[in-house]
Amino acid sequence: MAYLPCDLCGGTDARFLMMCERLDGPLVQCRRCGLVYVGARREDFAFSRFDPERSRRLAERVRALALVDEEVEAREAPIRERVMQERLQWVQRFVTSGRLLEIGCADGAFLALAARAGFHAHGVEPDPTTSARARQRTEIHVFPGTLAEAQYPAASFDVVVLFHVLEHLDSPRRALQEIHRVLRPGGILVLETPNIASVWFRLFGRRWRQFIPDHYYFFSPATLTRLLEENGFRVLALTHPRRIVSLRLLADRLRRWHAPLGRFFMRGLTRLGWEERTLTLRLSDVLLAAARRV
Ligand SMILES: [Zn+2]
Repeated sequence: MAYLPCDLCGGTDARFLMMCERLDGPLVQCRRCGLVYVGARREDFAFSRFDPERSRRLAERVRALALVDEEVEAREAPIRERVMQERLQWVQRFVTSGRLLEIGCADGAFLALAARAGFHAHGVEPDPTTSARARQRTEIHVFPGTLAEAQYPAASFDVVVLFHVLEHLDSPRRALQEIHRVLRPGGILVLETPNIASVWFRLFGRRWRQFIPDHYYFFSPATLTRLLEENGFRVLALTHPRRIVSLRLLADRLRRWHAPLGRFFMRGLTRLGWEERTLTLRLSDVLLAAARRV
C-alpha cells in the first residue's frame, strides 16, 4: 500500500507500524527520516480550514471512543489556568514583551494572561464558536480563521506560540514556513507537541493517551529538531514541560486506558474527597521547544 509522502523529508517509503482504532488511519514511519505519522486518512480531520461537517463527525468519533468525559473536563478549569501560567513563565524565559501570536488560541485564556503580563496578544482560532468567545476579551486581538487565512504581513510578531496544535495540522512543514514569514528575524517560536520517543508509547502502544482521531503527526526530539532547523529556526531549548494535574484528571486518563481500574480509582478519590488534589509531573511524552528564527 502506498502511504502519504513524509511531510518532513518528502520521502515516499514509509513502513507500517500499527493499526489503532483511535487514529484516523495506519500509523507509519518514514524510513528516510524517522517521522511517525498517520499514513492514510479515512476521514481527514487534519486542520487546514474550518469545516462544520468535519467538526461534527470528529465530535461523534470522539464520543464513540469515549475519550472525553465532559464533567471531568468542566471541573478542570481552575487547573488549566495554572497550566497556562506555567506556559507563560516558560515563554518569558526567552522573551518578556512585544507582539505575541498564539496559533489555535481557543477561548483566549492563555492570551489574556499574556496581555496582563505586558504582551500585545494576538491569536488565530478557526473554530467559530471558540473564536467568538475569545473575541469577547477586549485585551486581545483574535482572527477567526487559520494562520494562512489571516495573511499577516511579514515579520509581524516577536513571538509565536503553539500548544498542542502542530500534530493536528495538515502539514507541519507548511505551517513552520508561514510562522517563519510572520516572525521577525531573531523572533522566538515556542511549541508543545506529543513525544513519540517516550517510554509511555513503548509501554502503552496503541493505548497511548496521545492517540486520538485528529492527531496526525508524532514527533521525537530528532524529527522536531530537524523540522525546526530545515525551516529556518535554531533550537534554543528542548525539554519536557512540567504539568500540574489533579487526581481527578489522572483517574480519567486511567479510565481511558483501563475503564474498570479508572472507575475504581475515581470512586476512591470521591470517597476521600481528594479529586481536587494536584501533583506536578514531568511526563516525557510531551515535548516543549523554544527556537529562534534565523
Ligand atoms: Zn521522512
